[in-house]
Amino acid sequence: MVIGIDLEDEAFEQDVRELLMAFYPGAGFVYEEKLSDADILVTGRFLNSNGAESGMYILDVQKAENNDALEGGDDKDNTSGEDKMDKGSGAGRIPGEPDAGREQSRDWREVFFWVSPVIRRGLAEAEENLPFAVNRSERKEMKNRIKRRLYFLLMLETKKELPWGALTGIRPVKIPEEKLSLGWNDERILGFLEEDYLVGEKKRKLCLEIAKEERSLLGGLDAMKGYSLYVGIPFCPTTCLYCSFTSYPIGKWKGRLGEYLECLQKEFIMVREWAGKEKKLQTIYIGGGTPTSLPEKELKTLMEMVHRTFSTDSLKEFTVEAGRPDSLNQEKLRILKAYGTGRISINPQSMNQKTLDLIGRRHSVGQVKEVFYAARKEGFDNINMDIILGLPGEGEEEIRHTLDEVRALGPDSLTVHCLALKRAARLNVEKQQYTDYPMASGEMLDELVDLAAERAGEMGMKPYYLYRQKNMAGNLENVGYACEGKACLYNIYMMEEKQTIVACGAGSVSKRVYPDGRIERCENVKDVASFIERIDEMIERKRKLLED
Ligand code: SF4
Repeated sequence: MVIGIDLEDEAFEQDVRELLMAFYPGAGFVYEEKLSDADILVTGRFLNSNGAESGMYILDVQKAENNDALEGGDDKDNTSGEDKMDKGSGAGRIPGEPDAGREQSRDWREVFFWVSPVIRRGLAEAEENLPFAVNRSERKEMKNRIKRRLYFLLMLETKKELPWGALTGIRPVKIPEEKLSLGWNDERILGFLEEDYLVGEKKRKLCLEIAKEERSLLGGLDAMKGYSLYVGIPFCPTTCLYCSFTSYPIGKWKGRLGEYLECLQKEFIMVREWAGKEKKLQTIYIGGGTPTSLPEKELKTLMEMVHRTFSTDSLKEFTVEAGRPDSLNQEKLRILKAYGTGRISINPQSMNQKTLDLIGRRHSVGQVKEVFYAARKEGFDNINMDIILGLPGEGEEEIRHTLDEVRALGPDSLTVHCLALKRAARLNVEKQQYTDYPMASGEMLDELVDLAAERAGEMGMKPYYLYRQKNMAGNLENVGYACEGKACLYNIYMMEEKQTIVACGAGSVSKRVYPDGRIERCENVKDVASFIERIDEMIERKRKLLED
């Protein structure tokens, strides 16, 4: 599937593209002279292009006629030119949705008979698709109007409704959070999420619930007076099939780990100098990759470096993402505990051995349990587990099994991810090899998300942070659940951009949060060899971000 985007105001392109990706996962995009290659063309124009502030806007979604890609084939036809476009709302099939063709040929009133009055009204307007009024000086409102109309046009085209409506972006909780701080009541916030972003009822309520939980968790802390430290260890025992993070097999870097740690130490010293006595270190998060893939000696060195460099007097939380069970042993757990780690993650992703083997985790279900009990024995009373919904070959039965096994272990928090596949992930690149392993999507995935939420509730947990990613299965969300007192503050600071996060290590991103809410970022290079070579440049970039 190839989608052409031709908008008069390119500033909205990213949002429009994200919404299109949500309706057509895996689609490619073309612009300008390549527009004739498109299977679907989205055009947007101001009707009075003389620069007047208020005027009318027309948005259109046109579909190529007789296009194989729309009929479920992977390759698009070679037809090109204007005549390829047809103002159709007729029969095309969305790849991966076998009954989409039948649905598409039906009238939307039959398909969307349950929808709310807001959605019904929008669909009726989109069916006529008359130009609508916009005000160019109200950029945000104009963007939202365009996105809403596009959303309804795509609903008509695909006969699909999205759980998050026209809301794009990875931090939806920021919206209710901001409204709560303005003193809005629940009813007004929920109405706003429905009217302005067309968010479905379930997600509206979840979003508001999490915003309230976050406010109560952060209530007594002065985030602006402190900062958080992120340390990236971009190594793993092996690379998982779905991985889209900065991660390299540890075996290949064994000989240069000392150099990597030396670079981290240099970054730490710069951070300590910047923080001085005034800025208090509130949380530390060592992530990756898998930090515990470091051998015992290097892991101990890293923990010593952290303690030698930073004062932990004001520290509220110290997390190490142990992650892969095949990277842990009793000695490493002892080291983590001895150096004050309070929270660790032991992430099974699935408790089905067949799936673990398929996704290249190279550890057994038994190992997950052994490591979990070993961590409890070592005194860890805040253990998180991550699971992923939508892995190949996993349906309701497999997810129920995973959730039952996790519940039997009794972690203190649970993070439920929906699979997000970047283009470069092996599972995406080699997808032809995995056609025998269907991946849950759409309504089925939504049901699995509900099931996981129900199980988390049964384990005494509440949802406390949420984020979305691009290319996410079902266009859903990742949710962190935690028992009382076990939520991860760093996760909230990071997701809600409430505090400056200073990040060290290859591929890490530092983020400075200003008192007026403005945010500036700087990135370290991802490649480990370049990071080592260019460490002084990385440090200078960070210094500039933090001090300017
Ligand atoms: S453990 Fe995480 S970071 Fe490491 S390879 Fe697997 S998905 Fe990637």
